[in-house]
Amino acid sequence: MNIVLLGAPGAGKGTQAAKLVEDMGLCHISTGDILRQAVKDQTELGKKAKEYMDAGDLVPDELIIEMMKERIQQPDTAKGVILDGFPRTTTQAVALDNMLHELNRPLDAALLIDVDPEVIVKRLCSRRMCRECGHIGTAADAACPVCGGEMYQRDDDNEATVRNRLDVYDKSTSPLIDYYRGCDLLVAIDGDRDPAEVYAEVKSTLEGLDK
Ligand code: AMP
Repeated sequence: MNIVLLGAPGAGKGTQAAKLVEDMGLCHISTGDILRQAVKDQTELGKKAKEYMDAGDLVPDELIIEMMKERIQQPDTAKGVILDGFPRTTTQAVALDNMLHELNRPLDAALLIDVDPEVIVKRLCSRRMCRECGHIGTAADAACPVCGGEMYQRDDDNEATVRNRLDVYDKSTSPLIDYYRGCDLLVAIDGDRDPAEVYAEVKSTLEGLDK
């Protein structure tokens, strides 16, 4: 099963993807995670991407598409993928269609996790991540509740950058909602609920597709 997770930054895509990996054994590909690792490792890609990421802007399509072409061909994707944070532009969505077509793997659904922007600003400004295992928590977590690792705040989780990221989402990424609706692949899910409730709906939606 190949799934695109759509939704504004902070809508809960990463949290839902982590549950899907645990539950269904799908391969989680987060372009944001790949880019953050590249920045940390100071690779050529990381050096080119950092400035855009710090400002909350999109990294240019050519870089992202090149990176994804390589990633999606790796053997761990054969059972199915959950794409989190990709595609983010119509150009990327068309490139993804071509990649999947070449691999003879259809896209099964685009799940939109829908959350009000003001809820997102509050959520992201208090979001913390674990340096060790990547667990997504909140400012209330003194240490990672999963592995005890150190929690940190992402450089781009400050209010000004969050608001820019939401503007970028509106302009560049939200047109994908109509794109996937046009392909008859869009399923919208109310993301402004407890993550477990959101997940129950995500799961029943995916089980429905399997039938
Ligand atoms: P995320 O972790 O998905 O919120 O992504 C963090 C940042 O990485 C974004 O604000 C962008 O700067 C960059 N990024 C991640 N995925 C993409 C993408 N598909 N296209 C362009 N930039 C991306």
